[in-house]
Amino acid sequence: MIERPQDVPVIPQPIERFEPIVGSGRVAALREAADRLRAALGGRIVWNINSTAAGGGVAEMLGALLCYVKGQGIDARWAVIHGDEGFYRITKRLHNGLHGSPGDQGLLGREEADHYEAVTRENLRHLGALIRPGDVAVLHDPQTAGLVPGLKALGARVIWRCHIGHDGPDEYVHRSWAFLQPSLEPSDAFVFTRAAYAPDWVPPERLRVIPPSIDPFSPKNQEMDQAVARAILVHLGLIAGDPGAGPPRAFTRGDGTIGHVERHADILHAGPLPPADAPLIVQVSRWDRLKDMVGVLRGFADYALGRCAATLLLVGPNVHGVTDDPEGASTYEQCVEVWRGLPHFQRARVQLVSLPMTDVEENAAMVNALQRHAAIVVQKSLYEGFGLTVTEAMWKGRPVVAGGVGGILDQIEDGRNGLLVRDPTDLKEFGAALCRLLGEPELACLLGEAARSTVVEHYLAPRHLGQYAELLMALC
Ligand code: UDP
Repeated sequence: MIERPQDVPVIPQPIERFEPIVGSGRVAALREAADRLRAALGGRIVWNINSTAAGGGVAEMLGALLCYVKGQGIDARWAVIHGDEGFYRITKRLHNGLHGSPGDQGLLGREEADHYEAVTRENLRHLGALIRPGDVAVLHDPQTAGLVPGLKALGARVIWRCHIGHDGPDEYVHRSWAFLQPSLEPSDAFVFTRAAYAPDWVPPERLRVIPPSIDPFSPKNQEMDQAVARAILVHLGLIAGDPGAGPPRAFTRGDGTIGHVERHADILHAGPLPPADAPLIVQVSRWDRLKDMVGVLRGFADYALGRCAATLLLVGPNVHGVTDDPEGASTYEQCVEVWRGLPHFQRARVQLVSLPMTDVEENAAMVNALQRHAAIVVQKSLYEGFGLTVTEAMWKGRPVVAGGVGGILDQIEDGRNGLLVRDPTDLKEFGAALCRLLGEPELACLLGEAARSTVVEHYLAPRHLGQYAELLMALC
């Protein structure tokens, strides 16, 4: 028995908040587009359907976008479908496959298709009571793909958006598409982060390329005074200082109330803490093999540590608190093993930091403080569909050193708004990029400024909503 879909509340926000960032002209154009769309929809509802209300990039992005759509008087709603363990095992397999990864090596045959269909049917039964002919349904990722034919039969216009992908399709990518294709084919439109992620059976006239965006007002990205960022790092136990001395460790929550960073981090470290003004090199990621935390550690220890005064912080969510990422604990343990193998003087310059996830907004404020305080933000992924952490750091005007792979190639232009490590397995090249930035503060500053402009131009809600408005107009 599958629970009925959850209705996620969305608090409307005015797009006028973007005026000081992107200018009143862009906001006015967006308002006009929203007026036209509202008229064209004529009271019909725009549904967004995914499989989680919190945790993960899709949930973060939906929360940040739909509030502005609602703020424009468009009836946008967010429904979360449910599945059982078997369903999520299958959809994780599909997800890994679309990333070109073998995942758990399990099957995607008749039995899996039957189970996927049965869970989809249950969800559709509930959704069928809510969705009316003419409504628009934007479905996200493989968990929702099976809903397409049923929603089309109900008379809805259907857009399927895929947040993952691989530029070099391999057997795993093909296998996942073969499973999903029959359900997806009737979609009115397909949205991908990069054109290269779309399979070749998607008709070009139904394909749209829309990259993600970040919310500059969320606890993760909102403005934060350097002194507050420093106070949070001192409180967490990452840099030296008097925990009682700094300003309040305050941040603004999504509902407008004020929160404070109170929890602590779990830290693996040896020796004295770095002084508050020492340069920090920070990678914030899930403990996922493809984020290559181990490679960052080795590259820093072997090719940068001896040539600079910086300390490396590898930061991720506390693996004991994350149940849906079974690979997290083993990747973290691997980092611990490599760290223990370092000579003592090197261990003093590398910290493994696990952040509490109990309160996601408090966790986000910690990430905000870390990214803002960092001398360099790293994202040396071996593969990345789109690096949210890259955009988050660029928004904060930080110089970024990132793996030149996947979506990161669209986000960073090497030498202009960040540095790319062309081959992320080349640890020497990685170490050299770190030393270069630490040794050339003017370059670091220029890259950071250009990075922030890139985000203002391309990776905030006004660009994202403008593309959605255009797509929805074409379908209405
Ligand atoms: N993140 C977080 N807390 C952590 C570690 C990561 O909030 O302890 C966030 C990070 O700031 C980013 C997201 O998780 O917003 C990761 O997105 P990204 O696209 O970089 O990688 P993904 O996890 O989606 O593969």
